[in-house]
Amino acid sequence: MIAYLEVEHFVHGNETESIRNDDVSALEANFDLSTTGIASKDFGGMKSFKPLALIRPTTAAEVAQAVKAATRTSHLTVAARGNGHSINGQAMADKGLVLDMRAMENHYFQLLYLDGSPYVDVSGGALWEDVLKRCVLQFGLAPRSWTDYLSLTVGGTLSNAGVSGQAFRYGPQTSNVTELEVVNGKGDTLICNETQNSELFFATLGGLGQFGIITRARVMLQQAPHMVKWIRVVYSEIEDFTRDAEWLVIRQEGEGFDYVEGFVFVNSDDPCNGWSTVPIDPPNQRFDPVHIPSTSGPVLYCLELALHYRNTDHSSHVDMVVGGLLKRLGFVEGLKFEVDITYMEFMLRVNRAEEEAKCNGTWDAPHPWLNMFVSKSNIIDFDREVFKKILKHGVGGPILVYPLLRNKWDNRHSVVVPESNIFYIIALLRFIPPPPKGPPSELLVAQNHAIIQLCYNKGFDFKLYLPHYQSQENWMRHYGDKWSRFVDRKAVFDPLAILAPGQRFFSRIP
Ligand code: FAD
Repeated sequence: MIAYLEVEHFVHGNETESIRNDDVSALEANFDLSTTGIASKDFGGMKSFKPLALIRPTTAAEVAQAVKAATRTSHLTVAARGNGHSINGQAMADKGLVLDMRAMENHYFQLLYLDGSPYVDVSGGALWEDVLKRCVLQFGLAPRSWTDYLSLTVGGTLSNAGVSGQAFRYGPQTSNVTELEVVNGKGDTLICNETQNSELFFATLGGLGQFGIITRARVMLQQAPHMVKWIRVVYSEIEDFTRDAEWLVIRQEGEGFDYVEGFVFVNSDDPCNGWSTVPIDPPNQRFDPVHIPSTSGPVLYCLELALHYRNTDHSSHVDMVVGGLLKRLGFVEGLKFEVDITYMEFMLRVNRAEEEAKCNGTWDAPHPWLNMFVSKSNIIDFDREVFKKILKHGVGGPILVYPLLRNKWDNRHSVVVPESNIFYIIALLRFIPPPPKGPPSELLVAQNHAIIQLCYNKGFDFKLYLPHYQSQENWMRHYGDKWSRFVDRKAVFDPLAILAPGQRFFSRIP
């Protein structure tokens, strides 16, 4: 048996001792035992739950074995852990089993063509970064839809949605997979797609790990470009920024940019939140504040764009295409930044920020992040109340804001988004040094709650992305009229509520 089980020796009371004895005797016949720490940690750094054990399965059969073993107990839960980049303990299992899905990251990797189109079968525990490198280097192909940061697992992002600057065109990552292999909460391993076990397929995508553990995903591919022209342009008014961003995301393929994102930054020389965060290639590029209109407010806006091209494309042609698009935009003259880099450098661009954060201590500090989707109809009010007031001094890291199109999201999936056809993702990616240098994370969590409450009070059409709630009432409110579908699917695919207990939906049924 390759997989092994690591049991935390946290046991003190008699009750826990007996849990350990019963459960472990059922499991240890199949798995080795030792100790670990990663299962009780995540990127958020604010929650910690000790599992009974960490299992490192290397095959889908071993995942199924662990889930089946849990079903034979009266209380054990099972959490798949991708790369542990959740914020609120979502991949943890208090006194349950945590499956380290990275252990099976190389189990599947297979290129295939269906009706002439390329796909790759990858493990649920594979990192997107590795999927990128292998697909580009071995086949000259790449997935179509991404996240910004790629040290996340396939199963982890597909359980949420997976959003980046390509989602306006291709939808989230969940809209770019055509088949899954899933171990459900009964320990059954099922292949599912739009026609076979379709309800499990739709439930699992964006399902926050509630219906099954993704052991394999079939990901749509396209030809990988060689190069990227990466551009940032600055706006002083939210109305101009949103008008141009929305115009860009409704362009057809071949008539616009291949990547559209944006962010808000502070209109000051603050080194973490202000002007200097905009140039792509410092110190070769400098943000000259002399260009900022005198009417500007406390925050400014930046559209981030990219155009893919191939080595064989003439630079004059690329410049002509980019120039043609940029001249339709109303950004502040003199505040345009651009570089040409390889596709791989572009895709791995966040690694530089990761290295910097590791050096300055903010990578390992708590991350009270907030991610939400806000309807186009509320974005101007959101800007006035949140960006210009509550967050006018920044969050110590990027404040992403860019539009997405609802018709690229599949209603049959579990994830819920606002009603309007255009909505904005807003991500407060706080990188704050721990106290005494920075504020306590509780204060920033309270600020997040104040923002969420404001959205409720104002009646905004919004949803949390990567949601986290403490009570079932809040989950019901989050899903709205999709809640009963969610509960019905849970009853079918995980009737004992064994899976992903860290999401805090349901109590384990004995
Ligand atoms: P984990 O945190 O390990 O797990 C998340 C949830 O999924 C848990 O409930 C877990 O039980 C479940 N799960 C994990 N693996 C599986 C599986 N194989 N099958 C079923 N359920 C599973 N998101 C975006 O959309 N776009 C971004 O650009 C983006 N950038 C990010 C940058 C950083 C630095 C960080 C920390 C996060 C970012 N995220 C982004 C959020 C990220 O997509 C989620 O946090 C995601 O869950 C992380 O993946 P993971 O592999 O670490 O999952």
